[in-house]
Parts: sequence; structure tokens; C-alpha cells
Amino acid sequence: MKSADTFSRKRITLLGATGSIGDSTLDVIARHPHRFTLVAAAARSQWKKLADIALRFRPEAVALHDANAARCLADFLKNEGVSTEVFSGEKGVNRMAEWPSADTVVAAITGGVGLSPTAAAARAGKRIVLANKEALVMGGAWFMRLAREHGATLLPIDSEHNAIFQCLPRTKTEGVIGERAAGVKKILLTASGGPFLHWDHARLKTATPEQAVNHPVWKMGRKISVDSATMMNKGLEVIEAHWLFGMPRDAIEVVIHPQSIVHSMVEYEDGSTLAQLGTPDMRTPIAQALAFPHRVDAGVSALTVEKMATLTFLPPDFDRFLCLKLAFHALTLANGAAVVLNAANECAVDAFLSRKIAFLDIAEVINATLNAVASPAPNTLEETLALDALARSKAIRTIEHLTAKK
Ligand code: MG
Repeated sequence: MKSADTFSRKRITLLGATGSIGDSTLDVIARHPHRFTLVAAAARSQWKKLADIALRFRPEAVALHDANAARCLADFLKNEGVSTEVFSGEKGVNRMAEWPSADTVVAAITGGVGLSPTAAAARAGKRIVLANKEALVMGGAWFMRLAREHGATLLPIDSEHNAIFQCLPRTKTEGVIGERAAGVKKILLTASGGPFLHWDHARLKTATPEQAVNHPVWKMGRKISVDSATMMNKGLEVIEAHWLFGMPRDAIEVVIHPQSIVHSMVEYEDGSTLAQLGTPDMRTPIAQALAFPHRVDAGVSALTVEKMATLTFLPPDFDRFLCLKLAFHALTLANGAAVVLNAANECAVDAFLSRKIAFLDIAEVINATLNAVASPAPNTLEETLALDALARSKAIRTIEHLTAKK
């Protein structure tokens, strides 16, 4: 008899264990103890939360980027008699990404700091369940090449890219390979439009951090919530889709869909459009990727007719949401432009959240940085990180200049 026996147990490393994707991933793992085992986990500094995870799931190893927090965690686990090994620093986090007994790595560290461990997982030939956008936005060509050369598999869980993955024809290899599928004309990335969808320019000028992080549909971290308000999140996703699915800029379209029920669509040459629909809950894409090619319960309630009764779609307004325009523009420049765009955006969002600059200044900082930094295509992790650092220093100078003008 086959059936359930064909499902091989997945041994999972979770990078970004204490964030919101981490929470959702642990929820899915806990629902299927016979299918999924957490063998390693990493986070930045929240040692108490990681201690709870270690007590609950008993992984072989955990790591914290922050060395002091790692010491607290190690002492605590020793007192509790838990045998989980504790590592620290960037090296410790990278070690979790390569952990020998894990076959699957959930890459859910937000921001540029997630690039190095995600690259480590690729180099170790893991099955990478990818939430971290920066690996593709910053790594682009070399990251895809690294994954291919080491036999790593990419399974996207950013909800839009997971939807596209589900709507594309199945490839011979397990995951996404960075090549355009035959017969695919276009991919349509849906966007909720964020909290400021209907705000005019004058009102956008006055937008506060509290208003920006108050997303109408998704509950997410602060940085990604601001990215959603500026629509830079969609911009980064356009670049991510370009690399994952091998689609040129002109074959990627953004569609505003405020209900966030249709998670994205694929348009084929024959006039068919396939869409993936679902209740907006990250556990669905996470469960789809973890169990692929099987399907398991994600704890998510199905769509009702009422929820599907009113689905609306409209084109994005590039004049009000300049960050989205800048991201499309970056794809017309050398590959390094996406590194610069991302670095400048991270600095600008930080400055906005700490009230140093206004909401509309975010796009201004990114534009100024793109104009100031030459961006040849980086070929390695080291070249990418050097360009990232240069872009950050330029962006910070622009922010200081804007702050002084106030
Ligand atoms: Mg998304």
C-alpha cells in the first residue's frame, strides 16, 4: 500500500523563528508532528521566545544573532535540562542554515541580513522554503546560479509568488527554477494597495508611522507594513518574480485587489488566466510549500461565497506610489540597482518609523540614492554586501540632509 507512506518526513530548519512567518510556520509544523520535525531554529535577539520554541519542539540546535541573548538562552536551557545546542552570531545563524540533519530550510529572516544565511542554505543544497525577498532582490542572478549549481530547490512562500508557483505548469524538478515556463504570457501580481490606497497626494504628505503600519488585511512586521503602504513591498515582489520565474519586466503586471482573496494570477498564450484564491493567511502558502507536492491541513478556514461575492481589481497609480515605479525602473538598470533600491528603502523606512523623515520622503531618498550610486551587477555575496553598505551610507547622508532642511 502506498498513499500516506509516500509522504517523506521533512526535517526543518526555521530561520527567523520569532517573527510572524516563524509563528505561522511553527503552527503548521505542530499540526503535523508525523510529517514535520523542527531540527534547528534561528532568530535575532528574542531569546525568551526562542527558549519557548526550544522547550516545545526540542530542536537539535538553535542560534541567536545577538551574542548576549545567546548566552542567556544557553544558561536557561541548561537549567531546564534541555540538550539543544546553542550557537551565536552571524556564523551561528549560518550554521543553522547548513545544519546537516535538516533537508528543508524556511528562510524567513526579514531584510538584507537574511541574504547571507539564505545563500548558505543554497550552498548546502537544501530545499529552501523562501519568504525572504532580499535573497532574490539583492542576490538576483548569482543567487539563482548558486541554488542551481548546488542542487538547492526553491519553493516560494511570499503569498503572491506561492500563488504563481501553484498556477504554473509543474516542472521536472521539484521547485522554481528561474526559467520562463512555455506558454506563459504574463504574470499578474495582486496587491492590496495598503492602508493609503485612496489617499491623495496632500494627505499622503501627512501620513504617520501609526497610520502606515495599520494594514487593512495582513498583520505583519513594521518594516513590511510600511513597504506595503508605500507599495515598495510590491516593487520588491516584482523583482523577486522576475528572478524566480524568469519573466522580463514587461511580462509582469501589478493589479490592485483590495480584498486580498486572489493571491496572484498567470496568463497563458491561449487566453486562459489561472488564479489561486484563499483566505489571507500565511499558513496556506507555508503548508503548500512544506508539504509539496502533497496537501495538508493548514488550519485555515476555506473561502465562503460571501467572501468571494465582491472581488474588485484596478490598475496601480504610479504617480502616487512612486516606490513601485522606482522598483520597475530598477529592473531596466544593471542588476546592482536592485541592491541599491533595497538598501536605500531599508534606511528610509527606518528613518520614517523614527520620525526623522516624512512618508513621501521615502521615495525621494531611494531616488536620490539610485542616482548617486553606480550599480554594476555584483557576482558574489561579498560584492553584493559591499554595494549594499555603500548605498546605505549614501542614503543616510540624504536622510541627514532632509532632516536638516526641516
Ligand atoms: Mg507578499
